[in-house]
Amino acid sequence: MALQQLRAVEDRIARACEAAGRPRSAVRLLAVSKTRSSKDIRTRFDLDLHAFGENYSDEAVAKQAELSDLPIEWHFIGPVQSNKTRALVEHFDWVQSVDREKIVRRLADQRDPGRPPLNVLLQINIDREPQKAGCLPEELDALADAVRARPELKLRGLMTIPAADHDAGGRARSFGTMSEWFDRLAHRIDGVDTLSMGMTDDLEAAIAAGSTMVRIGTALFGPRPTR
Ligand SMILES: *Cc1c(COP(=O)(O)O)cnc(C)c1O
Repeated sequence: MALQQLRAVEDRIARACEAAGRPRSAVRLLAVSKTRSSKDIRTRFDLDLHAFGENYSDEAVAKQAELSDLPIEWHFIGPVQSNKTRALVEHFDWVQSVDREKIVRRLADQRDPGRPPLNVLLQINIDREPQKAGCLPEELDALADAVRARPELKLRGLMTIPAADHDAGGRARSFGTMSEWFDRLAHRIDGVDTLSMGMTDDLEAAIAAGSTMVRIGTALFGPRPTR
């Protein structure tokens, strides 16, 4: 089952890259393992998936303890609460959901300077949804400079989750706008190489617009149990 699911996702990514005239190597696959057991993660690791994304730090840390024998690259992709930043700097290689200066400061202050810098993506609330995490595009430059000023952090790019109620056209427009912001940032700041967008339902549109990392849960693991 796990192998068929992975093959189906790989096939979708390969076709989307081909349709966009982009090499398959231009897009990374992040397996989103929130609500999944450490056993389910281990099965995917054995199929050569080595980067996993988690949304809840307590849940992630518990599973990581059971998987400590595996060289997994862990990405935090959930909303960042400021009282949980220590767990993030200790247990993750990437935080994709940085959206305010207070969080930048805490992550940088708490990251062990002896460890490699924490890879950071800035989450953009591209559709300006009132309840959604993410900074607004006009706040992006100041936040990027705040990350860049801290050697404990490495700014790698941007992440977004478009509005759930968009139709295909609206989503494509949001992805296109993200791609423009990303190109500007990459032009301005060395080392910016990651545009994280696209999930199970919209990975094709995201890759067409220039995504370099798709975050896939449902298509790899099956439907999520309701929390
Ligand atoms: C859950 C989640 C995903 C994966 O969503 P699927 O539709 O299951 O592929 C991707 N990104 C974020 C930020 C998520 O919270």
